[in-house]
Parts: sequence; C-alpha cells; structure tokens
Amino acid sequence: MSRVWNFSAGPAALPLSVLERAQRELLDWNGSGASVMEQSHRGKRFIAMAQQVEANLRELMDIPDDYAVLFEQGGATQHFAQIPMNLAVEGDSADYIITGHWSEKAASEAAPYVRVNVAATSKSESYLRMSARETWKLDPNASYVHIATNETIHGVQFKQPPDVGNVPLVADMSSDILSGPVDVRRYGLIYAGAQKNIGPSGLVLIIIRRDLLERPTRPMAKIFRYVEHAAHDSMLNTPNTWGWYLAGLTFEWLKDNGGLAAMAELNRQKSELLYSTIDGSGGFYANPIDPPVRSRMNVPFTLHDSALDAAFLQESEAAGLLALKGHKALGGMRASLYNAVPLQAVQVLVDFMHDFARRHG
Ligand SMILES: *Cc1c(COP(=O)(O)O)cnc(C)c1O
Repeated sequence: MSRVWNFSAGPAALPLSVLERAQRELLDWNGSGASVMEQSHRGKRFIAMAQQVEANLRELMDIPDDYAVLFEQGGATQHFAQIPMNLAVEGDSADYIITGHWSEKAASEAAPYVRVNVAATSKSESYLRMSARETWKLDPNASYVHIATNETIHGVQFKQPPDVGNVPLVADMSSDILSGPVDVRRYGLIYAGAQKNIGPSGLVLIIIRRDLLERPTRPMAKIFRYVEHAAHDSMLNTPNTWGWYLAGLTFEWLKDNGGLAAMAELNRQKSELLYSTIDGSGGFYANPIDPPVRSRMNVPFTLHDSALDAAFLQESEAAGLLALKGHKALGGMRASLYNAVPLQAVQVLVDFMHDFARRHG
C-alpha cells in the first residue's frame, strides 16, 4: 500500500484510522448486515448514531444548549445564499468583511437577498493583511456581520473572533473548524463545509443560536428554512447519511487524540515549521502575508523563480507529496495542513524543500 502525504486544499486528507474503520465497517455496519449508506435515516440504528455524532460535536466544541446543530447539504456555497434568506427580510442590510476569495464570494452570493454593506476589505492590498478592526464601518442596525475565519486560497486567518457588539457574527469556518477551540458564544451562526477538516464533501455543519431561527423571513419553501431543519433534527428530507457517519468517525478520532486543544497545538507546530522554513530560505521561498494573520491551515508560497514551479511539483509528487500546486488565482504553491495532516508530513515536506533549494539554488 502506498499512501502519500496529502496537502490537498479540499476535498482533503482524512485521518488514516478513520478511513480504515470505514473500510472495516463498510459491508456490515453496526451489526446490521448492510452498509450505513444502504439503510433508512429513519431507522433506529441511524438515529442513534446521528444523536451520538451531534453529542460528540457538542462536547468537542463546547456548544451551549441554546444553539442548534444542523447537518445540511449544498456546500458552503449554497449557504452563502441561504444565510441571508434566513436572517434578513427584504430591505435589510448585512455587513461583510472581505478578507479573500471566499468572503468576497459570500458577499456576492448574498447580494440578491440582502443589501450587502462591505464594512471592510483588504482587496486593494491583495489580501496580504487584514484591515484593522478600528477601520471597519459597521452598521449597528445590520442583520448580521459576516466573516470567513480562514481564507483557504489567500491564506489569512482570524486568530480571534472580532468584537462586533450586539449584531450576530456569522462565520464561514469551512477550512478551520475543529482546528482549535472556539468560543461558540461569540457567534450567532457558524457554518462549515465538511470536506476540509471533517469528512467528505456534500455535508455542511451549521451551528446557530436558537433565537436566530425565529427571525421573520421572506416566503420560501421549507427546505430552505433552518428552523424547519432544526425542528426535524436535520431530517426534513434524506440527509447525507454517509457524510454524517464519516463526520462522526472524525469526531471520535478527535476525542481520542486530545480534542481541539491538542489539535491547536499540533497545528501551531506544523504551520510554524513550514513558515520558518519559508522565511529562513534566504528568499528561495516566500510567503508575503502579514505574520499575525498567516493561516495555520493553508500556507500559500512561491518560489523565487516561477520557472522552477514545474520541477518543484514534479519532484515533490515523485517524493510522495500530493497536491502542492497553488490555486490558479495565485499561482505558486499551497500546502494545506488540516487536522488529518500529521506533523511527520510537514517534516517530510520541509526536508524536501531544503533539498530542492540546495539543488536548484
Ligand atoms: C471550500 C470553501 C467553500 C466552498 O465550499 P463548497 O462546499 O464547494 O461550496 C467556502 N468557504 C470556504 C472558506 C472554503 O474553504
């Protein structure tokens, strides 16, 4: 068997033991004689599992009882639209903080449903830094304030939630959920597509303060309404049963490995190892992002001469290092260091980078 070191930005690496367990359980899940994918979400086995998965997530993230947890579909992208549909009525406005590709997309997808006020943007600085909180033009009457806690493409991350007063803070955590402890109480709504740090694509976690479920909305079908999903335990229609199951395996793996505090420490070590290699390369490699907002999950970097990119990619792949090609919007390289990427993978990567720089420097 030849597993590679996987730095994919998403869909991304899953813990090996999670995959092995899914493989073991595939044909006969939980003594049922069938796979988890082949049985009713209304059956008692699935319902018991679903409840346990939610309980484990609540424990891991310390989610208070006055927050509902939803297991949705449609990708984070669908919720870029569904969030304003649920939190605003016609004529309302919402504040958006633009720190990179995904928060920009969230704002543009929200625009048909809410008046988007760009309260801050670092686009003119190529998203290399974040605009200081004091410069944000927040509207105290906004329906909510939207941020992306981690910009998967641009590699910038909020290390702490910003203070936005009494307006609910809505956060796209698709690429850094579960990477460390968060104070859920600081947020009105947290959402995350599963395929970066949880499980397979096609599942979206939503953690929403229950009072926000009661907001008036425009007329719309039940399937778009979070309050309906909450009332039906995310089984208004057939959920992504496989995704829910695999997310559950990842949550158990996190609990067995010290929980989110342990993940935060590991992610700090991994990212510091890579950033110090880049910064210490004498200009061979570069990451121009303002250090305090550098992401611990996604590390974009360039080679001093882009003519070497093809050789870097070809040689790294030959060395068993997968998916280091940067996003097409930025070029260069990107290494994604999600929870399932072990410290050893980053050690192998930086050893390769030193060696490559020596041979091509
Ligand atoms: C990947 C990603 C998305 C888009 O997720 P889809 O599941 O493709 O809709 C949105 N936001 C962030 C921060 C992401 O990393």
